[in-house]
Amino acid sequence: MRIGCPREIKNREYRVGLTPESAKELVANGHEVWMETGAGAGIGAYDDQYVACGAKVIDNVADIFAECEMIVKVKEPQAEEIARLREGQVLYTYLHLAPDPAQTEGLVKSGCTAIAYETVTGPRGGLPLLKPMSQVAGRMSIQAGANALEKVHGGRGVLLGGVPGVMPGKVVVIGGGVVGFNAAQMSAGLGADTVIMDLNPEVLEKVGTHFEARASTRFASKANLEEAVAEADMVVGAVLVPGAAAPKLVSRDMLKTMKPGAVLVDVAIDQGGCFETSKPTTHDEPTYVVDDIVHYCVANMPGAVSRTSTYALNNVTLPHAIRIANLGWKEAMRRDPHLAQGLNVHAGRVTYPAVASELGYDL
Ligand code: NAD
Repeated sequence: MRIGCPREIKNREYRVGLTPESAKELVANGHEVWMETGAGAGIGAYDDQYVACGAKVIDNVADIFAECEMIVKVKEPQAEEIARLREGQVLYTYLHLAPDPAQTEGLVKSGCTAIAYETVTGPRGGLPLLKPMSQVAGRMSIQAGANALEKVHGGRGVLLGGVPGVMPGKVVVIGGGVVGFNAAQMSAGLGADTVIMDLNPEVLEKVGTHFEARASTRFASKANLEEAVAEADMVVGAVLVPGAAAPKLVSRDMLKTMKPGAVLVDVAIDQGGCFETSKPTTHDEPTYVVDDIVHYCVANMPGAVSRTSTYALNNVTLPHAIRIANLGWKEAMRRDPHLAQGLNVHAGRVTYPAVASELGYDL
């Protein structure tokens, strides 16, 4: 199969669909890989590295869309990319169609076969092609929050790990899922006083067993949240209620109980945020202050660490890409029902029930 990987054109997107190593694997499986010139520059992977891995570097993106049977990307196709997609072509990337009627209609009209990373399931449940981005965001939340805690960035001037003779900072992580677990790993690793709060007793047991004395766990009742937030130097919002907006767990009134210069990092901002005062921010201007509390609410945190994120993403997307290329998408999906869950649009129809019902398409 001939596989194409265009340069990402969405504003400020530096990741790339295929690393040089992934291109090499596909070539070793007998496939051709066409990379657009400069596609990997945002992760420090240059054209000569792709060539050394057996890929072809193509200057004209129109040729990639016209000649390749499968297009591998990171972000949803932009309007000019949708216009290039064609019948029978496989598109393999993040799509997030439910809130995006224009993109959905474009993909339907193109006749392409669109496989969405975010709906592929895993044998042990969960969404394995989304998980690495939660791991990245969770780990980054502590780094971003630590930065915001510095006095020059509006914070209260606290070093999370403390120093000998001075107490460490106090980090409260609300939600002990993938984001929360990874945030707690970084926080505890820095030596901060770390508390993980969740409503699910099984989650509390799992994180409690893992962290033992390096972090404490606490049931996320309203009273416990109020007390923990008031004592915190940093609060990480890492909750998810699948299919729903994030619950508002820290109200504006609660900000008044917090220490001036404390930091709120709302990772759940992509689901509306779990603090009442959260609003989405960008990497250009990641923070703002409300009632003396610094808010960090970047909706696409993994984009800032494009190299790590791309490698983490390729680890989970490449095995499916190889099977699709080796077997064809139909046979690959027949053999793997979890990959089949990724099919969102095919031959002019929306095939994913939740997207169809949300946007009013017949299945
Ligand atoms: P997850 O399902 O693994 O974990 C969510 C946890 O929240 C669960 O343990 C659940 O029990 C807990 N929870 C739900 N309601 C709660 C409540 N009221 N109080 C306390 N805990 C509660 O989800 P995840 O992968 O960790 O993702 C968390 C959020 O981060 C999601 O909204 C996700 O979309 C978002 N995210 C954002 C970025 C970004 O760049 N901003 C990147 C990746 C993920």
